[in-house]
Amino acid sequence: MTASEILTLIQDKNIKMVDFRIVDLPGRQHHVTIPAAEIDEDMLNDGIAFDGSSIQGFRGIEESDMVMRPDLDSAYIDAFTAVPTLDLVCDVYEPNGARYNRDPRFIAQKAEAFLQKSGVGTAAYFGPELEFFVFDDVRFASSQEGAFYHVDSEEANWNTGKDTGSNLGYKVKNKGGYFPVQPTDSQHDLRTEIVLELMNAGIRVERHHHEVASGGQAEINFRFDTLTNVADTVLLYKYIVRNVSKRYGKVATFMPKPVFGDNGSGMHVHQSIFAGDKPLFFEEGSYGNMSKIALHYIGGILHHAPALLAFATPSTNSFKRLVPGFEAPVNLVFSKGNRSAAVRVPIAAVTPKSARIEFRTPDATANPYLAFAAMLLAGLDGIRNEIDPTAHGYGPVDKNIYELSSKEKQKIRSVPGSLEEVLGALEADHEFLLEGGVFDRDFIETWIEFKRATEVRPLAIRPHPHEFQMYFDL
Ligand code: GLN
Ligand code: MG
Ligand code: MG
Ligand code: MG
Repeated sequence: MTASEILTLIQDKNIKMVDFRIVDLPGRQHHVTIPAAEIDEDMLNDGIAFDGSSIQGFRGIEESDMVMRPDLDSAYIDAFTAVPTLDLVCDVYEPNGARYNRDPRFIAQKAEAFLQKSGVGTAAYFGPELEFFVFDDVRFASSQEGAFYHVDSEEANWNTGKDTGSNLGYKVKNKGGYFPVQPTDSQHDLRTEIVLELMNAGIRVERHHHEVASGGQAEINFRFDTLTNVADTVLLYKYIVRNVSKRYGKVATFMPKPVFGDNGSGMHVHQSIFAGDKPLFFEEGSYGNMSKIALHYIGGILHHAPALLAFATPSTNSFKRLVPGFEAPVNLVFSKGNRSAAVRVPIAAVTPKSARIEFRTPDATANPYLAFAAMLLAGLDGIRNEIDPTAHGYGPVDKNIYELSSKEKQKIRSVPGSLEEVLGALEADHEFLLEGGVFDRDFIETWIEFKRATEVRPLAIRPHPHEFQMYFDL
């Protein structure tokens, strides 16, 4: 859209407020709101000033002046404000007009430009599948003294066994959420309302269903798109999921492992590359009907996975999901059909155009701009260096990996076990991310230090409730 088209939209829809939004390093959106009466074409074209020093991972206060400039194609009429409000996703600029190197959206855009320059293809498509929980109530406390948490859901009673005085009829059993009909599926209407709001926002929804875990786990899938567009969609999707849940007096979370002993929430990412309208991942008759390009893309993902996970599973909680027994991948292998592998090659109902790979390790604590950019760069590195995953012990493994003998398991690599481990891996392996100037050294160093200082260390120095169980009487 052009600035004048936005002004017309403001008139036609009686918009009263315009909301400028940016994304910080970890992936949270921030906004500033301007009365529509004050909006003119210059503001829409040139952007508005803001203080970059309060945004996590951005600037220090000594050089805090920055500019957010809207992407006018992102216009969305907000469904959750009291007065008609137009939301605009913005890019971040330096006061001198240069793009800001730590703006996650800039990195995503550079990754797409790099793909085109690489000569491999013209567009990479990403189809993320986000899972989440919708709880009735969450209580937690975290302080220097320790931490505790408790979640509540109309479905959770059976699972936890607590509160046995309440009605257990039609409650979802442990891992029993996929996918009985109502009344067991008590969140059907809530998910439907989320879907309607997503569609209102122009997002093409493909399906929704209850997920495996009890306690209100859900999945709503939308159509794949190009990298930056789909990362924008992920943030809008999270916004809509959270705010419809709030309408119902509930709270949604994308935290990967909120409940011990039941499935966690992942963000599997389907990926493929096209040259014009020619799909590049399909070759009839080979393993999984996969082309060499697709095979090498997988090789790049698996070879760089430890470093890649510093962006794709970037929270301390991420690694509590990546354990055996909960449909989350625990090994760095690929396979057709097999959902216990880190990379799955879907084979059901696949055509040349829909041929793709599914990276199952990521979760939605990832900043989608950074995670998708890093995945594309890992895949392109695999293509450039012809990394054949079958020659490097990355499979294919077509058995249930959870049930392999310990001898068989020794032959395959495990996913790393902690955020600190993947940050260390990123420190050692990040040249592939610097290709084409997509990421730069400042960004990689900032990310590693930011994650260590704000997540790894604060958690490490706090006593955990479970430690009382293990050590109190020792
Ligand atoms: N929740 C599982 C995960 O953590 C995936 C379940 C599924 O979609 N089959 O990845
Ligand atoms: Mg799915
Ligand atoms: Mg799922
Ligand atoms: Mg999936």
